[in-house]
Amino acid sequence: MKLLQDKVLNEGIVLSDQVLKVDSFLNHQMDPVLMKEVGREFARLFEGEGITKVLTIESSGIAPAIMAALEFEVPMIFARKQKSLTLREDIYVEKVYSFTKQQSNDVTVSKKFLFPNDKVLIIDDFLAHGEAALGLAKIVEQAGAQVAGIGIVIEKSFQSGAQRIKDAGYRVESLVRVASLSEGKVSFVTEAVH
Ligand code: 5GP
Repeated sequence: MKLLQDKVLNEGIVLSDQVLKVDSFLNHQMDPVLMKEVGREFARLFEGEGITKVLTIESSGIAPAIMAALEFEVPMIFARKQKSLTLREDIYVEKVYSFTKQQSNDVTVSKKFLFPNDKVLIIDDFLAHGEAALGLAKIVEQAGAQVAGIGIVIEKSFQSGAQRIKDAGYRVESLVRVASLSEGKVSFVTEAVH
């Protein structure tokens, strides 16, 4: 997605060769016009999949997820991150490790909002090692529902997430694919021209 690539190039801050900061439009301040286009692009990519719910994880996934949900006119659910929980009957729980924060969280969704007949589109802001996306997919499966696909705003293709998601049998669509953050520079994956 050209618009998003330009935004990453102009405003993205390379914190290290592993981490990109985009707090001017996605991770702190949010750009609603850009998020509207992001929602439209996810709707175009997953059109015809019969999506009934969009699922993300708080907090930076919420903006792209709500915009995608608006396009499909379906509810959006954001999983909550909590420290450590005692066992509860009314929620689905998965442990998700964050490489950026170097800590594990219990990620939870109320059983009230996911059902076996749901076809769920999972959305997240970044894809690194796939922990968050695969944790959300496990929650969908705990509910007996179907993962229709995984939509990512910014994929860091030099990390293992996209491959892990594909190996798990899910479709992943990333709007921007970063090939490298080395030497303080963002470079994108260049698609083969057919
Ligand atoms: P994963 O679970 O795929 O390893 O990492 C994805 C999650 O970690 C995302 O939800 C995102 O919040 C955070 N994350 C991973 N890498 C980056 C990064 O380079 N920049 C930012 N801002 N967040 C990241």
